[in-house]
Amino acid sequence: MPINGMSRRSVLAAGAATAAVAATGTLAAPAAYAAPTLPNGTSKDKVLVIGMDGLRHDRIDAANAPHLKSLMANGTYGLSLLYAPPMAATSSGPGWSTIATGVWPDKHGVKDNSFAGKNYGTYPGFLARLAQVRPELSTYAAVDWKALDDQGTVTPGTDAKLVLDGDRDGYPGHDATIANETESILRSQNPDVLFVYLGNTDAVAHSSGTGQRYLDAIAVQDGYLGRFLTAIKARPSYATERWTVIVSTDHGHADAGGHGGSSVEERRTFVLAQGPGIAAGARPADTRLVDVAATVFHQLGIVPDASWGLDGKPVQQRSTDPFDTLLPSLTGRVDETGIPAGVLGFTHTAPSGWSVINSAMGTGGMTEWRGWAFATDEFWSRSQRDQWRELNVRSRGVFAVADSDEWDDKANSGPYDSTLVTPAYGVSGKTTVRLDFTTLYRHEASQSAEVLASFNGGTPTRIKSYTADVVSKPQSLSVSVPAGASGVSFRFRYTGANNWYWVIDGVKVTAS
Ligand SMILES: [Zn+2]
Repeated sequence: MPINGMSRRSVLAAGAATAAVAATGTLAAPAAYAAPTLPNGTSKDKVLVIGMDGLRHDRIDAANAPHLKSLMANGTYGLSLLYAPPMAATSSGPGWSTIATGVWPDKHGVKDNSFAGKNYGTYPGFLARLAQVRPELSTYAAVDWKALDDQGTVTPGTDAKLVLDGDRDGYPGHDATIANETESILRSQNPDVLFVYLGNTDAVAHSSGTGQRYLDAIAVQDGYLGRFLTAIKARPSYATERWTVIVSTDHGHADAGGHGGSSVEERRTFVLAQGPGIAAGARPADTRLVDVAATVFHQLGIVPDASWGLDGKPVQQRSTDPFDTLLPSLTGRVDETGIPAGVLGFTHTAPSGWSVINSAMGTGGMTEWRGWAFATDEFWSRSQRDQWRELNVRSRGVFAVADSDEWDDKANSGPYDSTLVTPAYGVSGKTTVRLDFTTLYRHEASQSAEVLASFNGGTPTRIKSYTADVVSKPQSLSVSVPAGASGVSFRFRYTGANNWYWVIDGVKVTAS
């Protein structure tokens, strides 16, 4: 059984299962294969989700993977990073739970491969949710990491399922069986929604790293994907059907193989989707792993109820975040040394209508973090690992960050005192104005973080003060509009010395 934070395939990694390690998915298909009979489908909108375990997106380029590359050209390919401990390990339990449920580990509760604390009752996988809201859909799941069935992550609610034990028997043969059965169902039956898991990429990375054997394993799974795509196009009713195909992965791998920790290589993940309404060749910066389930619902014409508490959004919907307008102007490191020079991920130029007041800041310090900066997850979290910067899961694309801890890594006169100012928003004739944003705030006693409101350019008054950690949560602050006020602007003021940080993203102002 897997151990907290450790590889779920440590036995394979040790080389004990030699038969499985020797094969790379080339086992012959059974001569005659009888797939289960699914109920006849009821939807012309159809979705196939393929999960490839531990698939590093930056290795696909080097692999013989024409079908994955074709999906990238004809679909939308959103790269992102995962959480890290202490929110959750970059392991399969949290990863597949995030993909299935469409919420982050602080909701679905799976922090490692023990699955302790799982909360699938409140946050079920998308197939279980579909069984509740669209029981007439014909659904199928196939997994050979058996935990995804044992723990109820993927298979509950399906009309038929194939569950195999790759940890016991090896993944190459079982992946091949899953491919055979899935292809058969796609060719000769009428399923509506399928979730198909392939595990050998992860097993090979554990046993031999992310080199040639890993590329070979990617090529085998790419061949399975090609067979699925061919089977879909060969369906007699294909012309009247609207198919969406989604490929995703639960975590990355260190170059030498292994994951669970906070390195960028372990945190790398992606959502790749092709289907109606999904842009060809798009590379959005605001896609995250929780978006798989939201995309499934959207492609089936299902509007998630607010009570489901989904964190995801469909891959074709762009965020309207003002900070994301800065993407084209992001630049590379200046004083930082832990961030590779090629990672373009920060700027001090505020979005149109926004400003930063640094007149109370001391001199010097790390250039990147002198006052509020606008940065990406990869750029900021690579500045220093394992200090909770990886837990910024509800930010997307570019966000605003005030980081006194990193700023203080170079000589400065102190203090850190920076204020981020929003544009003025119209409030004429309104009684209440609401400020929504997401935040990651790590507290320490001698720092301060305040939100202030200024009506008609008047003296800003404090509407919120943070005095405890807030680990990536949505915030909603409502303020009464004074009689006669026509405009409001908000300020985020952070002060400290060598303390922690404050992240703001997804700012939205609504007057009513
Ligand atoms: Zn693994």
